[in-house]
Amino acid sequence: MNFFRRLFGRSKAREASQPEGIEAGEKMMLRVDTDNFGKEVQQAIWEEISKQTNLPIYEGRVEHGYSRAAVSQGSQCPRCYAKTQQRYANFIYATDIAPRVMFAPAGFFCTGCPTVIIDEEMIEAGVKKGYTFQGVVGIDYERKKEPITFEHGMEMTLYTCLMKIKMSSDLLP
Ligand SMILES: [Zn+2]
Repeated sequence: MNFFRRLFGRSKAREASQPEGIEAGEKMMLRVDTDNFGKEVQQAIWEEISKQTNLPIYEGRVEHGYSRAAVSQGSQCPRCYAKTQQRYANFIYATDIAPRVMFAPAGFFCTGCPTVIIDEEMIEAGVKKGYTFQGVVGIDYERKKEPITFEHGMEMTLYTCLMKIKMSSDLLP
């Protein structure tokens, strides 16, 4: 009871002091808060960012998701050992309040099979203030295709669960 009240109260306070706009985050990452833009403007911003950084947007399907922290390297697929390519995608991630979507070059997509290695640290670094990151749960394709979730992808779920447990214990007094 106290735990939830504390969590909720703290989140609200942080959200209230959050300035909207553009800021340069860590690791040379440009963070753009597109919450206040319409879908079409968002899309245009994302396409421009993709062009400027020479990293295409991934539009294929994936069936297996791994956290970068759970595999030894991001450049090689843990399933078929083919090379991966870094791409932008809209990553759906869980937070303490509601699921959110982040457009980021955080996916290392296998060139040989439908697998992605996700750099969750990159997503976590860009999470909107006031929200507590709880792990990547899927990929959104705008309205072009149905979003996919990793709920049934055992590898990702296992890691996400471990992370949740760790985060919960961090919050205990
Ligand atoms: Zn593969």
